[in-house]
Amino acid sequence: MRKPIIAGNWKMYKTAAEAKAFAEEVKTALPSAEKVDAVICAPALFLQNLVESAGNTDLKIGAQTMHEEKEGAFTGEVSPVQLKDLGVEYVIIGHSERRQYFNETDESANRKVVSAFEHGLKPILCVGESLEQRDSGDTGNVVEAQVEKGVARLSAEQAAELVIAYEPIWAIGTGKTATAEDANEVCGIIRKKIESLYNEETAGAVRIQYGGSVKPANIEELMNMEHIDGALVGGASLEAESFLKLLEAG
Ligand code: 13P
Repeated sequence: MRKPIIAGNWKMYKTAAEAKAFAEEVKTALPSAEKVDAVICAPALFLQNLVESAGNTDLKIGAQTMHEEKEGAFTGEVSPVQLKDLGVEYVIIGHSERRQYFNETDESANRKVVSAFEHGLKPILCVGESLEQRDSGDTGNVVEAQVEKGVARLSAEQAAELVIAYEPIWAIGTGKTATAEDANEVCGIIRKKIESLYNEETAGAVRIQYGGSVKPANIEELMNMEHIDGALVGGASLEAESFLKLLEAG
């Protein structure tokens, strides 16, 4: 059985004080880590404080991106070694906003995924189609190609440890959620792709999240689907109460 993983992506929201207050509130009411993996992916600035606040509770902390190199002259960037050193466990890679505004590609996402594994971080690889691609019936092909390029050079063991987030771009921050059936269908395509690239065991182990306007009111239906193992949540992860409700459904 795959353990559900609910991850909040705070994007560029919150102050340090708000981040701390969130962690203090959430950590006291977390469901057991045997039931669900609970992750907050915060702005890099708050990671150290959040790791400290989370302490040895089951709240795990993730970054929202990273540079692929372990160090170097890359002004403004954060390296996997630096994240690991702070006690960060997860890192979102290739989010559609990184692709759209910061020129990230399947190839750069792949380099980062490989580097994350090399440095002991757990990558959450994001894939998903645009509205135009969906409307022209290209969703399956687009997502399959993103997955194939994104996992290049990963061993079967690494691929089994990977978290893939299926986030249709048209559903992010828009209030439009893919129907649970549509989301499940694409997550199933992703799992099949992993099976064809690796094997059945790896495909059965890889965890696939849905992301895009997930909230307490719709998470249960999504989580009931065969191929949906969790959620990557933006807006509804910002309030502790709402995040805790998402975890309960995990
Ligand atoms: P929303 O949940 O705000 O739609 O954001 C989804 C997302 O991009 C998570 O990475």
